[in-house]
Amino acid sequence: MLQLKGLKKSYRGKTALRGLDLTVNDNEIFALLGPTGAGKSSTLLASAGLIDLDAGRVDLAGRDVTESDPGSRDIAIVFEGFNLLPVLDVKDNIAFALRSPAFSESEGEISLRVGRTAELLRISHLLDRDVDTLSGGERQRVAIARALVRRPVMFLLDEPLSALDLKLREGLRAELRQIHRQHRSTMLYATHDYHGAIAIADRIGIIDGGVIQQAGTIEDIYRLPANVVVGRLVGSPSMAFFEAGIEDGHVIVKGARQRIPIGEFGTVASGSGKVLLGVWPEDIEVGSADAAGASTGTIYAVDNRGFERAIQVDTSGGSFRKVVPLSMRFTQGDACSFRIPEGRGFLFDAAGGRRISQAEGAR
Ligand code: ADP
Ligand code: MG
Repeated sequence: MLQLKGLKKSYRGKTALRGLDLTVNDNEIFALLGPTGAGKSSTLLASAGLIDLDAGRVDLAGRDVTESDPGSRDIAIVFEGFNLLPVLDVKDNIAFALRSPAFSESEGEISLRVGRTAELLRISHLLDRDVDTLSGGERQRVAIARALVRRPVMFLLDEPLSALDLKLREGLRAELRQIHRQHRSTMLYATHDYHGAIAIADRIGIIDGGVIQQAGTIEDIYRLPANVVVGRLVGSPSMAFFEAGIEDGHVIVKGARQRIPIGEFGTVASGSGKVLLGVWPEDIEVGSADAAGASTGTIYAVDNRGFERAIQVDTSGGSFRKVVPLSMRFTQGDACSFRIPEGRGFLFDAAGGRRISQAEGAR
């Protein structure tokens, strides 16, 4: 188990971590999902002991390792940039850590482990090649093999697949899950890719501004998103937000026809005033312009995605994106209707972005 408590880190006045707490359980794949600059790499580097923290504590397998050097932590880290040694061939790159004084394995044992790990990552045929003759995907496999061969307690992956094309990325992601199943290793996987995160992880942590905004299974997060930041980073497309107000026991979306009784949202921390109404796009009903009881919007953009299309709808309360079947023949500039079904929205504080409604989304 990896436990991070109150991690703080600034680089020459630039704050990267502002009191970050995170627990990664044994044998789970935990994805750290957040945009560039959120603090993902700093979190991984701090876990591995590769940066000095300003404050906070790192526990690994129940032991306080905050002051321990990286070599003694039994953590392997894979960066996006491959970090292979160009002067060595594939075999020696993978064996590198095992030959360090910290391991001192026999050459027989090393060769056995390198062989097995190479098989697992399907790079056995590359063992005698020089790394600079490999493709990007092959290099990334070697980099992963190099970390994996040590059988560390904890495996940190910093955007390991970002540089690869889609097909390779999906293939390697599936292999990482497979390796994880076989080795029961614990993985902390940093990515800015929502699909990648939910495809690989048992739990995810949404990170932004140097803190974990919410951690849990993707179902937990969909059921009760903690704040606006989480809504903007989760989903594909992400959460729709509408400017709204609470008046006379109803939520009224700016410029829209619908009045939603406040009771639909469960206990609400505030009885009046401005709020943001957040709805997962899958829950929004969109139809032709004349639908009864619905509010109106305009189709701002249409993206064809092969078997479906994504539309962007502009409304007076805000715009949202949603995937619709090809049978809905919207074109740019069309008027349309939209409706938020009962019990499907969340209310957020308009200023701070915190969720102020307690009812769970119906999922
Ligand atoms: P992420 O991996 O999510 O993109 P990082 O942990 O790399 O986030 O960065 C968090 C913040 O810290 C960013 O604003 C980044 O610019 C800053 N930062 C990271 N490393 C350095 C560094 N070595 N020197 C100065 N600023 C840094
Ligand atoms: Mg990074």
